[in-house]
Amino acid sequence: MSKTDGKELKEKLFDSKKSGWEHLSDEELKNIFQYADEYMYYLNNSKTEKEIVQNSKEILLKNGFCDISEKETLVPGDKVFYINRGRCIYIAIIGEEEIEKGLNVVVAHCDSPRIDLKQNPLYEDNELGMLKTHYYGGIKKYQWTNIPLSMHGFVVKPDGERINICIGEKEEDPIFTISDLLPHLANEQMERKLKDGVQGEELNILAGSIPYDTEEVSERVKLNILKLLNDTYGIKEVDFVSSEIEFVPAFKAKSLGFDYSMIAGYGQDDKVCCYAGLRAILNIEKPRKTAVCVITDKEEVGFNGVTGMYTRIFDGFVTELLEKTGNTKASSLDKTFSNTKALSADVDAAYNPNFAFAFEKNNTAYLGKGMSLVKYTGARGKSGASEAPAEFVAEVRKTFDSVNARYQSCELGKVDKGGGGTIALTLANRGMEVVDVGVPVMGMHSPYEITSKFDVYQAYKGYQAFLNQ
Ligand code: MN
Ligand code: MN
Repeated sequence: MSKTDGKELKEKLFDSKKSGWEHLSDEELKNIFQYADEYMYYLNNSKTEKEIVQNSKEILLKNGFCDISEKETLVPGDKVFYINRGRCIYIAIIGEEEIEKGLNVVVAHCDSPRIDLKQNPLYEDNELGMLKTHYYGGIKKYQWTNIPLSMHGFVVKPDGERINICIGEKEEDPIFTISDLLPHLANEQMERKLKDGVQGEELNILAGSIPYDTEEVSERVKLNILKLLNDTYGIKEVDFVSSEIEFVPAFKAKSLGFDYSMIAGYGQDDKVCCYAGLRAILNIEKPRKTAVCVITDKEEVGFNGVTGMYTRIFDGFVTELLEKTGNTKASSLDKTFSNTKALSADVDAAYNPNFAFAFEKNNTAYLGKGMSLVKYTGARGKSGASEAPAEFVAEVRKTFDSVNARYQSCELGKVDKGGGGTIALTLANRGMEVVDVGVPVMGMHSPYEITSKFDVYQAYKGYQAFLNQ
């Protein structure tokens, strides 16, 4: 066999795993960069799960979708959504086939790791106003110190009045921060293990320093802060009991690198997939099977709660789709689920050259090589995972190949180095076929996560092809 034959043979038999950026047409490049700009705009205006749901709802309303409660009956081509407590959104376009024959579903999550306020947050320490916090999701705590934080959330009063608060996003707003110890005095702290470098009870936010102007009382800085909050929002200290206030990085998502090829931004896990799923379903008119996109809450803390993916409220939404298309048989929901195919649209770890030891190079995702396709997740012998059947993975490959949406097969780091789970199992447990397909992220769960614009666009193309069948 000649050398030339060898080259041809290699091209034919090897999985090339080339950079996705090679051989792109001008039009494809333009589409990738334009989509990335639109995604960054969405990211900068939707930092929390409630903001994602609100902004997604506005996008849906502008694109011909309506709340499912407005429809008595549903016919093919109808576009509806249901919002679960302002924290999850279930979106559907009715297909030509009856629903019982199965749905095509893409599920992403809108919650991201962050710093939540405790319910009794405010205190004063040596005339500094401070806020106690409890972090949300799996973070490396030291990464969340000495960065600008913005405050997002709301307070609900016993009479039902809801007061929204957002401080730190506008140019003229103040920001907040968690101050770490200076190196000069950190000898003792530096002896701690990295995971304890900054501990949970050391994640206290600096929030003010002017005392209320009177000599008569103690805790005058705390009093002054409460007065400011009362003047602006009408709230008292006890109102924090019924509040949900999150602190997130105040900085904006930006293009990264000389070539603008990457995106650095907070909360890309998993807003990158929320946006791809949302944009994908906007472009679909009348699919064969009913197309469903779910943006769910509470993934980062184990899928539980009334807005997590275990909730039966999603089942209620599918039941409503069945009923409004004329199917009222009791067994239809289970049949629908067992005929349903789903993508668990969640991010995966991208190879990081600074920490190559954590990755197994043959089976890791790389920035710029397409969507991450993960057959199984879990840890220690695939424990806790939902493994996708090979038959289903083959179908998904065919769908992606049909629109030239690039993907790479990967798992999360080396065997026994750690691991993680996704909502795939909550769908599989309902009887759906499901596989994880998302976007590789470098520095996942840090305040500044990194993606490749190429991959971000592939997810949109891939999800659209999957939903539109
Ligand atoms: Mn995720
Ligand atoms: Mn995550």
